[in-house]
Amino acid sequence: MPTKTPLLDHLPEDWPGLLSSVKPVPAYRARQVARWVFRHNASEWEAMSDLPEDLRRAWAQRWDLSLPALLDEQVSRDGTRKLLLGLSDGARIEAVLIPRADRATLCVSSQVGCAIGCRFCRTADMGLVRNLTPGEVLGQIRIANRLLAERPFRDGSVDGVESPLLNRVNHIVFMGMGEPLANFDTLVRALKILTAPDGFALSPRRITVSTSGLAGRIRDLGESGIPVNLAVSLSAPTESLRGTLMPINVHHPIRAILDACRTYPLRNRQRITFEYVLLGGVNDSPDQSRQLARLLAPFRSKVNLIPFNPYQGSPFVRPEPERVLRFQSILLEKGVTATIRTTRGEDILGACGQLALDPALPSQKESSNWKTIDCSMPV
Ligand code: SF4
Repeated sequence: MPTKTPLLDHLPEDWPGLLSSVKPVPAYRARQVARWVFRHNASEWEAMSDLPEDLRRAWAQRWDLSLPALLDEQVSRDGTRKLLLGLSDGARIEAVLIPRADRATLCVSSQVGCAIGCRFCRTADMGLVRNLTPGEVLGQIRIANRLLAERPFRDGSVDGVESPLLNRVNHIVFMGMGEPLANFDTLVRALKILTAPDGFALSPRRITVSTSGLAGRIRDLGESGIPVNLAVSLSAPTESLRGTLMPINVHHPIRAILDACRTYPLRNRQRITFEYVLLGGVNDSPDQSRQLARLLAPFRSKVNLIPFNPYQGSPFVRPEPERVLRFQSILLEKGVTATIRTTRGEDILGACGQLALDPALPSQKESSNWKTIDCSMPV
């Protein structure tokens, strides 16, 4: 008997052929399956009640629709939900669901661990364990959609107007564990399935890919023709400082990254986001803010300032709020749009760069593969 393989590793446009390889079927049958999977969060063939039973049985032998295991869910006071997910080989990843106003944003992982080694990120400690498959990337979204369908969330009200009920992920940020551009083929395939009309049908404008700055891959992403938002982690205004914070700067220096960013196709009013983790006394001075403004002046960009979220064992501290505001105001004075990222999920260690093993959870303690992810608010 052939081994079962994940159907979600494949583009929906290929499903008619793949499903017909088991038993020839007209194309509309594949569309029915896609509706069940993408609209109704189906993860079992038996659930697809409008499909003939013999077909469902035959496909179930060949094609796997299962979801990652939800090992743990922690819910923050602010509604942020941190999900610990188990993959078929025992590896574990984390995704963070951030409901805010009319957005249900999911921060997804692209790798188990990460090889990039940013000094301000604990994921770096574990190195790279392996890449995720497209089905595993999408599994995070499918799980989150299922949770939201079961327990819709309303993020209070603004100015007396009630926020909408959120029952489905509607924004995605690739800012979890791993460097998405280092798992490029998976990323592109996942993006195609996310944006396909017969897939998740999400607008690319609602998807952000965040990178530590793999210059060549930034160009490749631009050439892929999927117009997602690009966020680049700079975190220093000079090559030398960035080299001490992000070792990748040796191979992908700021000048090469900015050259690649110049080639990234931007739609009307679209901008490249430059992320800047503010580390107290390291990269948060007024002079460094001026240097950053000079560097980014030629770009249609915005800077997302991320005050460092401290964790045990880190050599860095969060800057004082006044220093963060001063850094931002200098950028604004120089004409560079700059926002300060709001920390969400801090009480469940779900804020940016803060996610870590919860020692109270035996299932996590057992895992040598699992440490933390750097997950961020939407940009
Ligand atoms: S910040 Fe991102 S790229 Fe850098 S080590 Fe952490 S997960 Fe990897």
